[in-house]
Amino acid sequence: MSTSLATSVIDGLVELPLKEVLPGILMFTLPVDYGIDHVNIYLIRDGEGWCLFDTGADCEAARALWLRALAGPLAAGLTRIIVSHHHPDHLGLAVWLHERTGAPILMREEEVAVARQTHVVSAGDRAYCIDFMRRHGVAPDDAQQVVGGVLQSNMACAVPARVEPLEAGQTLHIGDHAFDVLVLGGHSIAQICLYEPRLKLLLTGDQLLERITPNIGVWPYGETDPLPRYLDSLRTIAGLDIEHVLPAHHRVYHAGVERAHGLVAHHQRALRKFMARLGAGGMNATELGYAVYGAQSDPLHAYLAMGETLAHLLWLERSGHVLHEETPAATRWYPVTAAGEEPTLTLSGDMSR
Ligand SMILES: [Zn+2]
Repeated sequence: MSTSLATSVIDGLVELPLKEVLPGILMFTLPVDYGIDHVNIYLIRDGEGWCLFDTGADCEAARALWLRALAGPLAAGLTRIIVSHHHPDHLGLAVWLHERTGAPILMREEEVAVARQTHVVSAGDRAYCIDFMRRHGVAPDDAQQVVGGVLQSNMACAVPARVEPLEAGQTLHIGDHAFDVLVLGGHSIAQICLYEPRLKLLLTGDQLLERITPNIGVWPYGETDPLPRYLDSLRTIAGLDIEHVLPAHHRVYHAGVERAHGLVAHHQRALRKFMARLGAGGMNATELGYAVYGAQSDPLHAYLAMGETLAHLLWLERSGHVLHEETPAATRWYPVTAAGEEPTLTLSGDMSR
C-alpha cells in the first residue's frame, strides 16, 4: 500500500527515505546514531503545509536529509511540530526544526521537564542519580560513567524553551482529519499518541511497537511506577478500532489490538521470570536483572537492566509477591510467595473492546 513519493531532489541522486503510507500521510525514516539505527517520523498534510509528528535524532545524517526534504518535497513547510515524548530520537531535532520553519512545538510539559533532567547538570542532581543507582546495585564506576556522559549522549538533546500544551481527550484538527489526543504513561511519563477514528489509524511513537518491546523502567527521574500505567495504556489501545499502526520503529502494521494483548502477555512472562529468579536471601535490582537478562557489559545496559527490573519489582510488591528492605547502603528485595508456588499474575483484566 506504500507508494514512493517524489524523491530525487537537490542533488538529484539519492532518494529520500520518505513515502506516503496513507493519502496525505508520509513516513520519513531517519538514521539514528546510537542504540537503534532508525526512527520513523510522520508528516500529515495540513492545509498548505505539513504537520510533523516527532522529529528524529540530532545527528548530521538526519539534518542533511531534513534539509533536502525541506528544499524538495516538503518545501511547503511545517505548520506544527508535535513531539510524542522526550527521548532524543523523537525530540532531538524539534528546536532545530522550529528555528528553521517557525512552526510551534506541541508537547506535554511533563515531558519537557524530564527532558531537562536528562542533562543532569547540577552537582546535586549528579549526586542524587549516582546514589539512586548505587542503592540499586549498579557498580560505582558504571554509575559515574552513566551520569558523567553516557546518560547525556544517549538521552539528552536540545530542549524547547516554550511549547504549546496538548491535553488528553483534545481533538486536534490536522488537514481533513480529526485526531484524538491520547496521553499514555509507562514508556515515558506522558507520551502522546494520536488516534484518527475515521481512518482507524494510531500514531504510537514508542508506546506500541511491533518488533521490539518498549522499554518500561524506573529511573532517577520521570515515571516512578511505570508498569501499571503502561498496562493501562495497553488496555486503552486494545479498546480502539485499529486498522493502521504508524510506529516510531520498523514498518507500519495493522494488528495493533493484538499487539497490545501480546505486550501484556510479555510483561506477565517477565514478572514470572523475575519471581522465579529472586533468591530467598534477597537481591538488589541489579543482581536480579543480571539473573534474568544476563550480566551487562557496559554502563548503559547495566543502567537499563536495573530500571526494567525495578519496574517489575514495584508491580510485584504492590501485588504482594515481594517486599523490599531499605538501608542507607542498599535496597534489597525478597520473595513473599512460598518457594515453588506459581504467583498468580493476572495482568490482562478486561481487555475486550
Ligand atoms: Zn522512547
